[in-house]
Amino acid sequence: MKNNDLLNIPSVSQIMQIAEKEKFHNNRYVKYLIKQELQKYRDVAKNGRLELDRNSIIKNILSKVSLLSDSSIKPVINATGIVLHTGLGRAPQSKKIINKVAKRLSAYVNLELDLENGKRGQRQNHVSNLISSIVGSEDALIVNNNAAAVLLSLNELAEGKEVIVSRGQLVEIGGSFRIPDMIKKSGCRLVEVGTTNRTHISDYEDAITKNTGAILWVHTSNYTISGFTKEVLIEELVCLGKKKRISVMVDLGCGEVLDLSENGIPTNIVVGDVVKSGSSVITFSGDKLLGGPQSGIIVGKKSLITKIKKNPIARTVRCDKWTIALLEETLRSAQEDLVRENLTLSLLMADRSKILKRVENFLKLIPKNINKDHKMIIEETFVEAGSGTLPAEKFESIALKITSKKYSPSALSKLFRKAKYPVIGFIKNNNFYLDFKSIIPFQEKFLLSSIIEALD
Ligand SMILES: *Cc1c(COP(=O)(O)O)cnc(C)c1O
Repeated sequence: MKNNDLLNIPSVSQIMQIAEKEKFHNNRYVKYLIKQELQKYRDVAKNGRLELDRNSIIKNILSKVSLLSDSSIKPVINATGIVLHTGLGRAPQSKKIINKVAKRLSAYVNLELDLENGKRGQRQNHVSNLISSIVGSEDALIVNNNAAAVLLSLNELAEGKEVIVSRGQLVEIGGSFRIPDMIKKSGCRLVEVGTTNRTHISDYEDAITKNTGAILWVHTSNYTISGFTKEVLIEELVCLGKKKRISVMVDLGCGEVLDLSENGIPTNIVVGDVVKSGSSVITFSGDKLLGGPQSGIIVGKKSLITKIKKNPIARTVRCDKWTIALLEETLRSAQEDLVRENLTLSLLMADRSKILKRVENFLKLIPKNINKDHKMIIEETFVEAGSGTLPAEKFESIALKITSKKYSPSALSKLFRKAKYPVIGFIKNNNFYLDFKSIIPFQEKFLLSSIIEALD
């Protein structure tokens, strides 16, 4: 019985022959995918549970292969309302910036060449002065992400020594970034001080020994501690650090480079203010509230940044030319016309009335016959910025609630996800929603076609 099942399974070459007739390229990837799929059927057959004939197996595998041999990374419509959605690529970049960068990088570039004197240059120079000019730091360095920035900086400041952190700031960001683990892996020893809700300057002071390498202040990006609480100000720590000759490092996480509180983005902590406070080294992400490419930015005292640049770990986390070019453009737009060019920030800044207008205009485009079985209702929502930024803040937004006589919310969610232009919405209180906070305006025409495809 079991052996018969196994005999039912076609061979790779049999499927390849049919695949070629159906115009799939006979390439290694297609072959690899067919082998992988066949193995799954063999595993099922070995357990005696294969309930398919040979033709159905071939058909299933070919349809799977036709899906998988498409580009794997593709554009999706983010209708979750969460603008900084790490699963969907975090900070979206404007087409204008991407086009500028793509044009520049379609040939060789002066990545590490000083065109003035023909000597070897530093890739960091393309962005370090731009960053310093915005946040007022003595120097700056970029690496692949903020996690790398933290690891590298800690290793340089305190390898083999103790790092003092408040118990209220032992953060887990998700995706395995945990402060205690980062400290360990950077070769330092964690010294916890204070309690979960209250830490005093004397707690830090009492923990300082001759083995102290640094004091680390961490922004509790994705949670708030409220009630009977006390957190020591960065300024106070800097004072203590100066007295004891110990560096104070700050992991800011999201790091706003500009104060955007008048533009509808509640002020978190502005990087420039932390620089002014005199902290030795400050790290933050390039793809959170800066709205740039995935990167980690380290700013601070020139003497320390110079040392960090020479640390061997710096080479293992260095950015490529794409990141550097995208960050350069993002930073240039931060000097000039931030709102117009920074797509992430313009999505975050759009207020509810503006979003409502978009949704109302959009609804007019939906064909009438769709609305019989399915209802679309405008609803006010509150959304988060995402990626652990601004945890206590909710942004006012507008969503379309889709109710259907034909489909359950989870069936709707799947239909939208599997559309030619995938749409990622969310389910709440047993209803399916498309939130417009995070829908990029130029994608509305694709959203319309996905709605028609999903609901027809
Ligand atoms: C987000 C965050 C990180 C990790 O940054 P990535 O750029 O995602 O690597 C580290 N620390 C804090 C406090 C954060 O908010």
